[in-house]
Amino acid sequence: SEAGKVGPDHVVMSVDEVRELALKVLLQAGLSREQAGPVAEVITAGERDECHSHGLYRLPGCVETVRHPRFVPDAVPVITEQSASVVRADARFGYSLPAFERALPTVVRQAREVGVSVLAINDCFHFAALWPEIEAITAHGLAAIAMTPNHCWVAPTGGTRPILGTNPFAFGWPRGGDRPYVFDFATSEIARGDIALHKLAGKPIPLGWGIDQAGQPTTSAAAALAGAMLPFGGYKGSALATMVELLAGPLIGDLTSMESTAFDGGVNAAPCHGELIIALDPAFLGGGRTAAGHQGAEALFAAITGQGARLPSQRRYEARERSMKDGVRVSRALHERIIALLDG
Ligand code: NDP
Repeated sequence: SEAGKVGPDHVVMSVDEVRELALKVLLQAGLSREQAGPVAEVITAGERDECHSHGLYRLPGCVETVRHPRFVPDAVPVITEQSASVVRADARFGYSLPAFERALPTVVRQAREVGVSVLAINDCFHFAALWPEIEAITAHGLAAIAMTPNHCWVAPTGGTRPILGTNPFAFGWPRGGDRPYVFDFATSEIARGDIALHKLAGKPIPLGWGIDQAGQPTTSAAAALAGAMLPFGGYKGSALATMVELLAGPLIGDLTSMESTAFDGGVNAAPCHGELIIALDPAFLGGGRTAAGHQGAEALFAAITGQGARLPSQRRYEARERSMKDGVRVSRALHERIIALLDG
């Protein structure tokens, strides 16, 4: 293992070291163990799978969020089984992940008993990628869907003002012994962080990522950040992002991205709102025809990869294997910023 070695512009850490560092920073920031544990875990998973935008890079923001007047650093989520197929997880203004973790056993049991379980997470601060939750469900042989709004940064196609979130949508299909089929992406053309990075580097952005405050297409990252981002796929992405607003907001009695931005009140914390997760059991819904269903799914995946296309998450799974063996490379600048959080 390369763990512990230091290069000129990066530090190599083992996956366990990433987890320990994240946990230490979060506990020192005042989070309870129940809050800090799952957050550290998801940050570690992001770093491990080389999803750098959702790895250690997020730690400073997590610490910042603790300062939001409505954030509850020792929140204890409350899980209610509302019906045979509906679970409500009240995050009590802590992070989304501890609420998910507490609700998961009930979600899995319900999906097996009645074919489907709908999990509504309410009042949660949310910064995370969705694939860790998707994988936690597919690990039980269930298919999964997850979505959440965030802050209003995206203009609807044909419009000029930001009212939609970058609203990630994720899906997973269990594949027995194989790694699950999982995709997880924002419904905006590009992540907000990518535009911010272009601004930092003084680089122009491609047309189609954003519009300026006058609603005109722009190649200026600064102008797009001040104006609005755009959905992916034109009106189709715009409608999907709207669906995410409705299903993970009003449907479950929680905030839209516009309301979440108002709730933030300029603190610039992680957005606070709801999340919708649906678990589906192929063994139940296939009604005895499950084996044929799984064969059909595998034939579909083989037809995709057989012509040279790759499955989503394949890059992540390869990165995971590498990281578990060789550790992860963390930029020195980021590492120093995180160590400074411990000192500060
Ligand atoms: P990308 O545009 O990078 O797309 C990611 C998904 O597409 C992954 O599943 C990825 O698999 C897959 N993919 C990428 N390229 C290919 C390809 N050539 N063939 C097949 N599949 C491919 O993601 P985004 O920037 O839109 O989002 C990144 C993350 O940010 C997500 O995890 C999302 O949940 C998170 N996010 C969270 C928000 C929040 O508020 N909580 C807001 C917005 C985003 P692979 O990983 O293997 O490359």
